[in-house]
Amino acid sequence: MSNWPAWLPLRGDLSDLTPYGAPQITDVTSLNTNENPFALPKAVVEAILTKLPSTLESLNRYPDRDALSLRTELSRYINKKNGTNFNLANIWAANGSNEILQTLVLACGHKGVLGFTPSYSMHPLITKVCGEKWIDGARKDDFTIDLEKAIGQISNVKPSIVFITTPNNPSGNAIGIDQISKLAESAKSVGALLVVDEAYAEFSTELSAVNLIEKFENLVVVRTMSKAFALAGARVGYFIANPKVVEVALITRLPYHLSSQTQEIAIIALQHDELLQAEIDLLISERKRVSSELIKLGMKVVDSEANFLLFTGFKGSPKEVWSSLLDSKVLIRDVGIPNHLRTTIGTPDENNQFLAAIAEHRP
Ligand SMILES: *Cc1c(COP(=O)(O)O)cnc(C)c1O
Repeated sequence: MSNWPAWLPLRGDLSDLTPYGAPQITDVTSLNTNENPFALPKAVVEAILTKLPSTLESLNRYPDRDALSLRTELSRYINKKNGTNFNLANIWAANGSNEILQTLVLACGHKGVLGFTPSYSMHPLITKVCGEKWIDGARKDDFTIDLEKAIGQISNVKPSIVFITTPNNPSGNAIGIDQISKLAESAKSVGALLVVDEAYAEFSTELSAVNLIEKFENLVVVRTMSKAFALAGARVGYFIANPKVVEVALITRLPYHLSSQTQEIAIIALQHDELLQAEIDLLISERKRVSSELIKLGMKVVDSEANFLLFTGFKGSPKEVWSSLLDSKVLIRDVGIPNHLRTTIGTPDENNQFLAAIAEHRP
């Protein structure tokens, strides 16, 4: 099936995998990877520039291997948002939450990894690249989790990691903390970690699963600064968990994985976290506006607690509509779900461009 040359001593289980590949196209309105459409606030850029000379002067030295200041700042941010009482021993940081996920699967994925699809496509890919077995759990047709089925599957499969994404990507819907609690209980009974990917938590009104960590030592919450924090280019992700999970991450991480500049930039962004709230509020109100405009056009939209919308009911196939929007210089995402497309919430102006282009495909 695959066309790798015979001389390449490739691991057999990698030969059929394809790279993660959201298109990166310039000179278009980019609504395909759920980035924050706003640039970093000026005050943050200026604070970074002030700090940069001393960071550059010490580039001959390795960075803080354990990212102590960054983890302290992350715990302050999480505690402030959730009324929790974590410290750096509960937090681990890496180059994006994808590296966080890999660190966890390397350490604990050996009995298989279960996730409920359609969900984040990197969960199965990271699992397979780590050489572990991926098991597909299903969602209902409306993309919600069938709790009873999910719990049944956890106890049948007995994986060592269960993934849940909330708000879910690509559908946008969130699950409540009561349901997460039941999934954590079920994972605990088979000796599995429940890894809750909360990449879009800042856009959601649901309580964060960090509130359950004290009760469930097997619960790990994964976060990123790529979305709400407008910091996708810096590559910073982290998890919050029982300190034992952090200790295991120290074994599977690469030493000095997080560069000095990355750590400095993230710390400064976290110190200015309140500047982001106005942008997040605007994106949430834009999400509601775009959703109701799509409905007015006769389409159907999945309820979203994130910064994107999954919709259906347009005329034509997802491929055709995606290409036609690209001809109008609007890049959205065909996530491979039949009859559906996903659009990221951009600036009001970008959203208007999207709405004008998609109106051509009303049913
Ligand atoms: C975007 C996204 C991430 C973020 O990945 P980073 O490596 O932190 O940029 C993680 N999980 C989900 C579900 C996402 O949608």
